[in-house]
Amino acid sequence: MSTNNSSTEQLNKNTSPTPGTAWVVAVQESLVTIEVRDVPIRKNEVGYICVGNERLMAEVLRIQGNTADMQVFEDTSGVRVGDPVDLTGELLSVSLGPGILAQVFDGLEKPLEVIAKAHGFFLPRGVDVAPLNREKKWTFTPCVAIGDKLVAGQPLGTVPEGPFKHKIMVPFDEANEVEVTWIYEGSATIDSPIARIRTADGKERQLTMVQRWPVRRPIPEPMIRRRIAERLYPQEPLTTTLRIIDTFFPIARGGTGCIPGPFGAGKTVLQSLIARYSTIDITIIVACGERAGEVVETITEYPEMKDPKTGGSLMDRTVIICNTSSMPVAARESSIYTGMTLGEYYRQMGYNVLVIADSTSRWAQAMRETSGRMEEIPGEEAFPAYLDSSIKNVYERAGVIKCPDGSIGSLTMIGTVSPAGGNFEEPVTQATLATVKTFLGLSYDRAYKRYYPAIDPLISWSRYLEQLKKWFEANLESGWVDSVSAMQELLERGDSIYQMMQVTGEEGVSIEDFVTWQKSMLLDMVYLQQDAFDEVDVSMPRDRQLESFRLLRGLIQREFTFTEKEQVRDFFTRLTGVYKNFNYSPFNSQEYSRYMKEIKDLVAQHSIAAA
Ligand code: ADP
Ligand code: MG
Repeated sequence: MSTNNSSTEQLNKNTSPTPGTAWVVAVQESLVTIEVRDVPIRKNEVGYICVGNERLMAEVLRIQGNTADMQVFEDTSGVRVGDPVDLTGELLSVSLGPGILAQVFDGLEKPLEVIAKAHGFFLPRGVDVAPLNREKKWTFTPCVAIGDKLVAGQPLGTVPEGPFKHKIMVPFDEANEVEVTWIYEGSATIDSPIARIRTADGKERQLTMVQRWPVRRPIPEPMIRRRIAERLYPQEPLTTTLRIIDTFFPIARGGTGCIPGPFGAGKTVLQSLIARYSTIDITIIVACGERAGEVVETITEYPEMKDPKTGGSLMDRTVIICNTSSMPVAARESSIYTGMTLGEYYRQMGYNVLVIADSTSRWAQAMRETSGRMEEIPGEEAFPAYLDSSIKNVYERAGVIKCPDGSIGSLTMIGTVSPAGGNFEEPVTQATLATVKTFLGLSYDRAYKRYYPAIDPLISWSRYLEQLKKWFEANLESGWVDSVSAMQELLERGDSIYQMMQVTGEEGVSIEDFVTWQKSMLLDMVYLQQDAFDEVDVSMPRDRQLESFRLLRGLIQREFTFTEKEQVRDFFTRLTGVYKNFNYSPFNSQEYSRYMKEIKDLVAQHSIAAA
């Protein structure tokens, strides 16, 4: 073992490592190198660095011969060469069971509220806290009988968790069919036995309501009749009730999307709107804050937000995984995997889950720091060479599955990206764009003009408009995709006319072009933009969107009788005003009908009858 002078001194304080152990040989901020003698060790295994009475949680990242690098999830000050390391044999894992919902966890599933009550907001180093409440009793209702043969992921019974039925399932690590030998009914804590099963090798296994699962490994697809079910393609869109997304850049339920944008463009606000109004059962928010206060805002705001569906607290169907910039980078790096694993768990119960990560750039930076300390060969902008594959692996965990009972579960993944200076050419944005199927690019320009949500329709795209064509045509109207494309073209034409006017002035364009530009502006002002501060406009259900879309399409297809640009401008200004009031009126209310009539009359007065 090689040591320098200062560490030799430290070594003397500890008894020399004995065979069959592991001990620290080097410390570099959150990265600790250990030497291992005669104990098994594997990648991503958890170990504890023992510093006096403290035990610091760490994960094995790399093994090279007799040494291994571990990332430590806590402050490493005071860790010395020679300090013993306890390897647990368990991969970095989370506890899956009732009581996850409505919690705020850190990246390792430690409940922050429990910590705050016991220790103040800052967790003292080395303190281990159980992820789930161990005293609370849950009422377990079995759905199987002794002698039943089951496969991994099949429910043994359920407990009510908030508004949901939480399925207690055969552990996901059972590769073969198991037989129920005993089953419990009634109230129990998460640690008490609720079932016994005989596994394929004839052994009995006692089960509680909790199982552990390694976060970096996707929970396998459920088995159906002893065969792993196939991953299904997303069949329907998520309805976010945000017009620009639902109509122009849809996200599939079980699909992927990203929201890149410069600082202050509205990424966090947009994600929270999506979380609040989408057709989703459960939302997992992985908050890696840009600003120190941002995560705190998230944790204080969510519990106060009302769930538009139930009227209860939004928090009842939300889990927040929270990292602040003051937490060690390693915990931030693991938090996305923790979030995905919790999401997959609820998906296996047949729920529609949304995981939102804000921001994935912070997560990638954590990866970069750790990789730098391990002196790995850097890729572009010093990100590790495996940045692309790490990003891909995360988004690939999204998807739709068929559960053993026939229900369909989905996991939709949306991540924000915050490139420095809003430059989308940087590696994290580029790697994300190569993976996701929806790109909602926010522009500084639109945010500056307060065109919210500041999704830029000229750079954004969605592969799902085409992929889910069948759904759109069956549920909205036939020819839907072409209709949307025509509107998209209007926006592009409007923009090029606008660019031209920047050069030539208004006189330089024809009155037809001027009208086209005004039409595209109208579409932008009253359809793409949506007022998050108006209680009606903030969320527009699909049937209403469709009605509005048809109204707009009808008037955009009209030819107008104007001879002066001034008339055109006046007309569209008035129309935009009335249309906004229309948007602010409750659906199908008296005002709603009144404004709709006003819009139609106004258009009829100034146009040649529709072709
Ligand atoms: P980012 O996460 O991209 O840094 P935020 O989501 O925190 O940006 O938004 C910054 C600010 O922009 C918000 O505090 C709010 O004032 C304004 N904003 C963003 N989106 C909207 C919106 N949809 N409606 C109104 N204001 C918004
Ligand atoms: Mg933000």
